[in-house]
Amino acid sequence: MNFFIQRSELRDIYDKVVAGERISDADALRLFETKDLNALGAIADFVRQRKVGNRASYIINRYVNYSNYCILSCQFCSFSRKKRDADGFQFSIEEIVQKAREALKIGITEMHIVGGLHPSLPFSYYTDMLKALKNLDARLQLKCFTAIEILHLAWLSKKSVEQVLIELKDAGLASLTGGGAEIFRKEVRSQIAKGKESAEEYLDVHRTWHKLGQRSTCTMLYGHVETLADRVDHLRQLRALQDETNGFVALIPLAYQPQDNDIPVEHAPTGFDSLRTIAVSRIYLDNFPHITAYWVGLGLKLAQVALSYGADDIHGTIIEEHIFHMAGATSPQLQTETDMVKAIREAGRTPVQRNSFYEPIKILADLPSTNATVENPAHSKVLEDNLATA
Ligand code: SF4
Repeated sequence: MNFFIQRSELRDIYDKVVAGERISDADALRLFETKDLNALGAIADFVRQRKVGNRASYIINRYVNYSNYCILSCQFCSFSRKKRDADGFQFSIEEIVQKAREALKIGITEMHIVGGLHPSLPFSYYTDMLKALKNLDARLQLKCFTAIEILHLAWLSKKSVEQVLIELKDAGLASLTGGGAEIFRKEVRSQIAKGKESAEEYLDVHRTWHKLGQRSTCTMLYGHVETLADRVDHLRQLRALQDETNGFVALIPLAYQPQDNDIPVEHAPTGFDSLRTIAVSRIYLDNFPHITAYWVGLGLKLAQVALSYGADDIHGTIIEEHIFHMAGATSPQLQTETDMVKAIREAGRTPVQRNSFYEPIKILADLPSTNATVENPAHSKVLEDNLATA
């Protein structure tokens, strides 16, 4: 048994976990409240190891925000703009296809596409966009749209949520994104995202998608006005839906970024808070295959450390991120495959390039030296070009 667990107040929870017993909400709250980060991390690492062995994954992907125009004004959001704002934007389908065309040169396997709730783009814009991207490369996996965008499209097109999802799937949608979950408790939502969909609506969009035989990820935005009990309640609702549908492939905890919005929070979550949130998520969500440490909010260095605190994935190259950076994230706009592989190797894991469903595409053999790395010249060149024009 791990030295830290042996001497810890969390020993009884460890015993439950080892026995394969599900931990309770009260246990999860105790885990959140402990200051014994070493023991918490050791328990989470035990669960991670049992789930995925020594592998840790990343994806080569590209983000695109098709527009930042939005009819809502969520208090925590630094991304949305109104039509009167000078820095509002919307891309044509051809512009999005061009971004995909360039990114395919570095070997992306996924386009991750979300936007604001655009007041007037027709439903055909979204289906045509998906079809055009699939025409460009049928192998490209399209991970697009948050639950609130789906509800918005249903409202705009006067179709049911199920019908919208079926038509998007037929046009090429592979996976829904997990964005927009925030924190489920109503009182918190009204403080940070008034007017946005309810927890029930968020969960119901994902439920409907899963019942069509599809998969998605989900998120939890932490480190703003919520309590630790609110986080447990959020995880409880995700675990319950996963028991019902088994459609989530991963939880992606999102560290709140406090700049340029109306929420009175002084700083982003500390490293301690982020590591404990990832660790508790890993232990509590016993029915989730994967937990991602999202480097955009954490920075690559903390995401790397999180691989020893329950995470088994550090997300992707991304290339062009707006939503977190407009809220003050200081991480770079992109990561190279080389840096992600190096971070995973240094953490003692075997790097695995994955697809949108966290399935392995390429398992990188262990190298004799942890400093050794993989160079992909085409990848580096395109990323350099991107940085030069950013
Ligand atoms: S969080 Fe999403 S729905 Fe809310 S204002 Fe921002 S873009 Fe719009």
